[in-house]
Amino acid sequence: MERVFNFSAGPAVLPEEVLQEVADNMVNYQGQGLSILEMSHRGSTFAQLHEETKALIRELLQVPDTHDILFLQGGGHTQFAMVPLNLLGAAAEATYIVNGVWSRKAAAEAEKFCHVNTILAADGSVPPSDSINVPNDAAYLYYCQNETVNGVEFNYTPAGPDCVPLVADISSNFLSRAVDFNRHALVFAGAQKNFGPAGLSVVIIRKDLLGLTTDTCPTMLDYAVHAKHGSMYNTPPTFAIWVANLVCHWIKRNGGVEAMDRRARERADLIYRTIDSFNAFYVNTIAGNARSRMNVVFNLQEEALTELFLREASKHNLMNLKGHRIVGGLRASLYNALPLEAAKALSEFMIDFAHRHG
Ligand SMILES: *Cc1c(COP(=O)(O)O)cnc(C)c1O
Repeated sequence: MERVFNFSAGPAVLPEEVLQEVADNMVNYQGQGLSILEMSHRGSTFAQLHEETKALIRELLQVPDTHDILFLQGGGHTQFAMVPLNLLGAAAEATYIVNGVWSRKAAAEAEKFCHVNTILAADGSVPPSDSINVPNDAAYLYYCQNETVNGVEFNYTPAGPDCVPLVADISSNFLSRAVDFNRHALVFAGAQKNFGPAGLSVVIIRKDLLGLTTDTCPTMLDYAVHAKHGSMYNTPPTFAIWVANLVCHWIKRNGGVEAMDRRARERADLIYRTIDSFNAFYVNTIAGNARSRMNVVFNLQEEALTELFLREASKHNLMNLKGHRIVGGLRASLYNALPLEAAKALSEFMIDFAHRHG
């Protein structure tokens, strides 16, 4: 069977080459007579793969020595708790920019631990940079760089006072654009959107922020514990790390993060152009400066045609275009591994559908 064009928001498309490499090495990894899934994580084969994967991320994102790279589990949601647990220190409050589903959820989790100041932005927008007012005694400023459900992406780095560390959820745009580590004290990403299989999360944290937890912090939720043990405190998600390693190699072979960014813009521009040229038929309400390169959220002017759109799209192998259950409508997720041909096929289908039903 032919592979479909997969617009899933996550778990999401992976490079076909990577899947083939996994298949080829699944049963007998590099002639060792067993698979990665069956090997000790402490053995030299896996330990080397683990270190190499961190080194590849460091190289691809130009992560400076001031920051540690951690491989954790528990997805983005666990980070919603780990961030306040680890960064509050003696502070009593933190500031959250809330402009979509994931930042709202992160802020709600933080409220269990501290007072949360929120900077709100209207749905479908990012707050203007001059509205980012952060008190000097905030433990950190938090934002979600790409709101996967709402289709909103920051096109600038929000800033508070220099003394307040900046934290970003970059789950759904990880390795698709550069990260400024002079500005970001902590970024995290669940792998299953743009990087690899579910089960792995990556945290990149400035080393001086390690060790601010109190004695009651659960061991597994303490960044310092994971940093001290090189992310091998307990058994890491070995399979997910292997696949992520192959994805890193794939990104490197294909021009690195800069090329991923360029391709992302190319795919997204194509779909936004299609929506805008048929704006009597398709609607996208995201502010022009906040349109996500990764998740294009749109509706049909005539909502009743949505089911038909999805049905016909699937006949053209264009799959998983249904919007998130919270917002409805349609969503095309256009992650790193999605070929440009998929965006072209979607655009052609959208034009044809608009002609036939408009
Ligand atoms: C998917 C997603 C999450 C939640 O990830 P889980 O791994 O399901 O916990 C958090 N933040 C963003 C931006 C996401 O896209």
